[in-house]
Amino acid sequence: MRRTSDELAKMRRAGRVVAEIHEATRAIIRPGVTTEDIDRVARGVLERRDAKSNFLNYHGFPAVVCTSPNSMIVHGIPSPEVVLVEGDIISIDCGAIIEGYHGDAAYTVGVGEVSAEASRLMEVTERSLFAGIDQLTEGNRLHEVGRAVQRVAETAGFSVVREYVGHGIGTAMHEDPQVPNYWPGSPGPMLKTGMVFAVEPMVNAGGPETEQLEDGWSVVTADGRLSAHFEHTIAVTDNGPEVFTVL
Ligand code: MG
Ligand code: MG
Repeated sequence: MRRTSDELAKMRRAGRVVAEIHEATRAIIRPGVTTEDIDRVARGVLERRDAKSNFLNYHGFPAVVCTSPNSMIVHGIPSPEVVLVEGDIISIDCGAIIEGYHGDAAYTVGVGEVSAEASRLMEVTERSLFAGIDQLTEGNRLHEVGRAVQRVAETAGFSVVREYVGHGIGTAMHEDPQVPNYWPGSPGPMLKTGMVFAVEPMVNAGGPETEQLEDGWSVVTADGRLSAHFEHTIAVTDNGPEVFTVL
């Protein structure tokens, strides 16, 4: 789906609110903070910007952010019982709706001092995201995104999750087509100016296998090793990819 410049302007505003949530939540992350505290800060930004949450009540999800520590890959539920401790890594995924248009982005950050492996995993995952974003140019094929992400992650000795992928985004958070973080064996749709995607590599320190916990949401690595997640909402423009979820 190709968006008009008016629609893109709304998505740019939604993206900016998501980036503000990232900035505000990043600022409070330290040992002793709970994942519920993170959700509360995110709600405050949404309220101040008169934006709606696309996470709250999504298939019954009870919060405006997903908070996924350590071996949790995605979809962790904020809780007063999950207290961050020195050495953790935590993935924060959130979104915002402005005038019916969606933004969606995620980051992973260390809590205090983290291990060399954790730090390298976060660096590589973010770098794989930008390698994917670089492929979002008019005339290119969508699955080049996944090929680029996979190359960065696997060259570093890590693996990419297969069961969860990026997506088109616009008047819904999740629109077709899917954006795999690996080469799925076909080039995929041709990219055109005005298309908007959420690219979101989930990179595991160990194997790519995932497991879902009994809460029906939290997804963890099957081998218990660390996972990181970075995401942006990006438009294909005449001047190359434009990241909307930045300040
Ligand atoms: Mg997201
Ligand atoms: Mg997403």
